[in-house]
Amino acid sequence: MKIKFAGAAKTVTGSKHLIELWDNKKVLLDCGMYQGLGKQTFELNDNDVIEPTELDAILLSHAHIDHSGLIPKYVKDGFEGPIYCTKATFALCQIMLRDSAFIQEFDVRYSNKRNNRSEKDAYEPLYEQEDVSQALEQFVIVEENVQTAIIDGIKATFIPNGHILGSAAIYLDIDEISEKTSVLFTADIGRFNTSLIKDPEIPPFADILICESTYGDRLHDTTIDAEQAILNAIIYTVKEKKGKLIIPAFSLGRTQEIVFALNKLDLHGLLPEIKIYVDSPLAVDATVITKQFSYLLNSQVQRFIDSRSDPFGFEKLTYVKKKEDSQKLNTSKEPCVIISAAGMADAGRVKHHIFHGIENARNTILFVGYAEPNSLGGKLQRGEKEVTIFGESKRVEAEIKVVSSLSAHGDYKEMISYLKNQDPSKVRKLFLVHGEEKVIENYAGRLRKIGYRDVVIPERGESFEL
Ligand SMILES: [Zn+2]
Repeated sequence: MKIKFAGAAKTVTGSKHLIELWDNKKVLLDCGMYQGLGKQTFELNDNDVIEPTELDAILLSHAHIDHSGLIPKYVKDGFEGPIYCTKATFALCQIMLRDSAFIQEFDVRYSNKRNNRSEKDAYEPLYEQEDVSQALEQFVIVEENVQTAIIDGIKATFIPNGHILGSAAIYLDIDEISEKTSVLFTADIGRFNTSLIKDPEIPPFADILICESTYGDRLHDTTIDAEQAILNAIIYTVKEKKGKLIIPAFSLGRTQEIVFALNKLDLHGLLPEIKIYVDSPLAVDATVITKQFSYLLNSQVQRFIDSRSDPFGFEKLTYVKKKEDSQKLNTSKEPCVIISAAGMADAGRVKHHIFHGIENARNTILFVGYAEPNSLGGKLQRGEKEVTIFGESKRVEAEIKVVSSLSAHGDYKEMISYLKNQDPSKVRKLFLVHGEEKVIENYAGRLRKIGYRDVVIPERGESFEL
């Protein structure tokens, strides 16, 4: 067998890893879109190193666009096979992929108009709604922890990994003529004791590991510290400075986590009298789906639901769906909290909130998750004093704060304890993906220290015979 790394190689987006058997059968692990890499993003997504028509199946770890976002493009380009994932991932993909098509159509139209491209030279979106509809027809739901035959020679088990609703590591039992090999693809590893999703389940030993490394050089604070940090930011910005607290957050996962945290703070009487807006139609839909799959949530949220309270709704909170209401918030002077997507701030409604609020020193922009260094979020987190938004140069007068402990990715300690059923002396090869180059190298050093002999950091397009 061979493994080819087609994305998330020395980067954190574009997750795509190809398993190729001796008889040329091919199965793709994830089909993610590159995001937040500036100008080259479109190129990377458009010029792939994989031929979709040659694939026999896609196995999808979770619904985040950097893992699922190119599926409709593959379908458009001729992939006709099944796409396996858990039930919650399928439910989420229905809204996530439609939203992705919508954003692309919008962005491409905007960019063509802005750059006065003629009809002949106009950019086209990677895919459109009808491609999403066709792709959704090809999804096949698998049950968690039940081995499923994918093609001759490959069986897959989806093992919940605590990252977001429906997310799973994918464990492959590969049976080739004379050899049996097990491969564990961790996908994005969640955290232990988080406020929303059940803890990751520890997967069994595998001969070959493909591991994520997003926070391979870092230890997170506890969730309690994160909740306190958000509360402090609210009191300081909204009550004392009378400004807006803008929180860029993934619509799926992070938004529900923050809303639940704020709900608890409110119940304890700690939240001042303020208005909180969740400004993201996608977050509204993702919240509905999260409630439908409450069995995947941890006991704390379950208790909430059992006592008939809504974990994601309380009096001070308003969900904003309509575009006009979002635009009103852009220009309103009311001190408030705005939670809006996207988390890296380089797309979605939050970009407009930042555009309008960044030159006002009363405001605070609070990042609660990972942002690509080249994205707007990455630049702000790095402390740049001037940024370009929608082609306009803006002075950074608002305060920039970061709370990393709410991350949906484990830190290096959590990632290593996730691998506790692995025997480093017996693992044949450990591939590190889904991390920035420096971080991956750091994490590779830690893994070698605990006994992993063959730790490899693949390049995009690199292939390994196993
Ligand atoms: Zn993810």
